[in-house]
Amino acid sequence: MRVLVTGGAGFIGSHLAGRLLQDGHEVRILDNFSTGRRSNLRSLADEVEIVEGDIQSAERAYAAVRGCEVVFHQAALPSVPRSIQDPLTSNASNVTGLLNVMLAARDAGVRRVMYASSSSVYGANPALPKSEDMTPMPISPYAVGKLAGEGYCRAFGEVYGLQTVAIRYFNVFGPRQDPRSQYAAVIPNFITALLRGEQPTIYGDGEQSRDFTYVENVVEGNVLAMDAPDVAGKVYNVACGERVTLNELFAELRDLLGGEDPPIYAAARPGDVRHSLADVSAARRDLGYEPGVLLREGLSRTIEHLREELAARAGLEHA
Ligand code: NAD
Repeated sequence: MRVLVTGGAGFIGSHLAGRLLQDGHEVRILDNFSTGRRSNLRSLADEVEIVEGDIQSAERAYAAVRGCEVVFHQAALPSVPRSIQDPLTSNASNVTGLLNVMLAARDAGVRRVMYASSSSVYGANPALPKSEDMTPMPISPYAVGKLAGEGYCRAFGEVYGLQTVAIRYFNVFGPRQDPRSQYAAVIPNFITALLRGEQPTIYGDGEQSRDFTYVENVVEGNVLAMDAPDVAGKVYNVACGERVTLNELFAELRDLLGGEDPPIYAAARPGDVRHSLADVSAARRDLGYEPGVLLREGLSRTIEHLREELAARAGLEHA
């Protein structure tokens, strides 16, 4: 079947596009390459159809969804600090852009939209583990936007009959996550620093915890949601179901990579939640989801990738 991956040049979107191609689907990507990279598509470039453009453009969105049975909506500006610095720009991509894609999907007769939501919607709600029936309490503009997207998903099911499945990703990591971005996620940040013999920075006391999820697990959750029965209009956590503190993560990485130096501790960042751990029992029950790659294995694969990327970059600089 023909499928659309918005944000397909990004970290998660490019892994998803690769998996969908492997499964025999015709894959189209809509991306404006704002945070996504052409190099993410290097291994897929001849096989995917690329529509370059912004999801805020109705013309681009309609062109991209035409003929697609399923849409995986991954495009967004995926950073809490960025949304605090510039909430209007985040909102434009993450909410207005989503609405545009949903309208195009509705009008093109798309069967189902999978929406990349986020664990950040739980925000200040202190209960652990996070289950989908808890009251969301977003504490950053990014999380507000992601929750608004879930609201649109539900509403489009109710009023237009468009099937949607919102998937709340928990701190995804893996190869191709951009370590150079000013807003880089913690794992590529720590690994890159340790590979360079530098001390990574931990914001806060390092006792905050996360349910880090290897990217392949998130891809699996999406693929399962595409055809699962009786899931339209619902929301699912997709994660590992285990949590580690940033201090434990640092120790694990130092164990894998070597090194003696402690991390540098800096002031905690506003908008960051304290603890995060998913209850994945609903995804297990309804989607048949199982986190196949656990933390240590995922870290080893990510280290391998970043080592190669750094070596390739160093080679280019010396060429
Ligand atoms: P990413 O930045 O690598 O990918 C996002 C992609 O969307 C990029 O290719 C970017 O160029 C594209 N994009 C952004 N704005 C666009 C626009 N206006 N028009 C067209 N394309 C646009 O980020 P990612 O980590 O792969 O995130 C993918 C999705 O997963 C996002 O929706 C994000 O909010 C969500 N998510 C990610 C995480 C995580 O830990 N990485 C956690 C929860 C949710």
